[in-house]
Amino acid sequence: MVSFKELGLVNTREMFAKAIKGGYAIPAFNFNNMEQLQAIVKACAETKSPVILQVSKGARNYANQTLLRYMAQGAVEYAKELGWEHPQICLHLDHGDSFELCKSCVDFGFSSVMIDASSLPYEENIALTKKVVEYAHKYDVTVEAELGVLAGVEDEVSSAVSHYTKPEEVVDFATRTGCDSLAISIGTSHGAYKFTPEQCTRDPKTGKLVPPPLAFDVLDAIMEKLPGFPIVLHGSSSVPQEYVDMINQYGGKLPDAVGIPEEQLRKAAKSAVCKINIDSDSRLAFTAAVRKVFAEKPGEFDPRKYCGPARDLMEELYKHKIINVLGSDGKAE
Ligand SMILES: [Zn+2]
Repeated sequence: MVSFKELGLVNTREMFAKAIKGGYAIPAFNFNNMEQLQAIVKACAETKSPVILQVSKGARNYANQTLLRYMAQGAVEYAKELGWEHPQICLHLDHGDSFELCKSCVDFGFSSVMIDASSLPYEENIALTKKVVEYAHKYDVTVEAELGVLAGVEDEVSSAVSHYTKPEEVVDFATRTGCDSLAISIGTSHGAYKFTPEQCTRDPKTGKLVPPPLAFDVLDAIMEKLPGFPIVLHGSSSVPQEYVDMINQYGGKLPDAVGIPEEQLRKAAKSAVCKINIDSDSRLAFTAAVRKVFAEKPGEFDPRKYCGPARDLMEELYKHKIINVLGSDGKAE
C-alpha cells in the first residue's frame, strides 16, 4: 500500500472546489510515454496550471502500471526542478471498469480514480460506484463516476450511440454513491471522429464540417439540480484542423475528422465543468510532427529526432489549451 501523499500528488477535491469558484477547468491529459509526460509537465510548470495526469486501462497495458506510477512520481520532482514550487499534480485512473482495478490503483498511489459503470443498468451503476467510493475514501482518494453514455471509441471504451445524462437522476445518483465528481454526456464523444458527416453541417465558405453544438440545456439542468457539484467532460478534443492537414499532407489519411469547437469548451469551463479530458489532440500533434520529419528527412532513424519535435508540438498544444481554452494558468502558483 502506497499513499499518493508520499508521492507528492494531490487528489481532486481542492482543485475542483477552486476551479468551480474561479470559473475555469482543470486539464486532464492522458499519458502513455515519456515524451507526452515531459510535454505535459513542462507546459503546466511554465503556466503554473494544476493538472490531472490520466492513465487508462489501455495505457496500463501499453506502458506497465509500475512504470507509469513512478513516472508520475518523477513528474512531481521534474516539475519542482523546473521551478514550480508547489506542483498540483493528480494521478487519475481513466475509465476504471471494475472494483478490483480501482482498488489496485488506490493501493498503488493514485490520488483519484474513475469508476465507469455507465454502461450498466442504473441501480448496478450506483452499487458499483458506491463500493469504489467507500474503499477509495478510506485513503482520501477521490472518485469520478459517470452517468449517461458517450459515443465514440477510446481504448477499451466504445459505444455507437450516446445517451444524454438525465438531469432528474443526478441528485439521487450523487447522494447515494457519494462520488466526488460526475462525468456527464451532453454531446462530447471519444476519438478523432466525434461526429459523422451526416450529423454535421458544412461551412459553405470553407467546405469544412461544422459539428452540432453541445447540449448546454442539459448541462444547465444538471447544474440546477446539483449546484456547485464538480462536473466532468470526456471526449473534449477539438481535433485541430492544422494537425489533421499536416497528417494528410505528409502521407496520412484522416478524412473528415472532427472535434468539439474550442469556444464551446471555453463556455463549459466557466460553468461547474471543472475537468475537461483531452487525449486525441495530443495524439494528433504527436503523429503530425513525426510524419513531417519522416516525409522531409527519410534518412532519419534516431527516435530523438522525431520524438523531440513531437514533444515540442504537444507542449505547445497543452499550453494553448491551458491558457486559451481552460483558463487554468496561474491557478497553482
Ligand atoms: Zn473518456
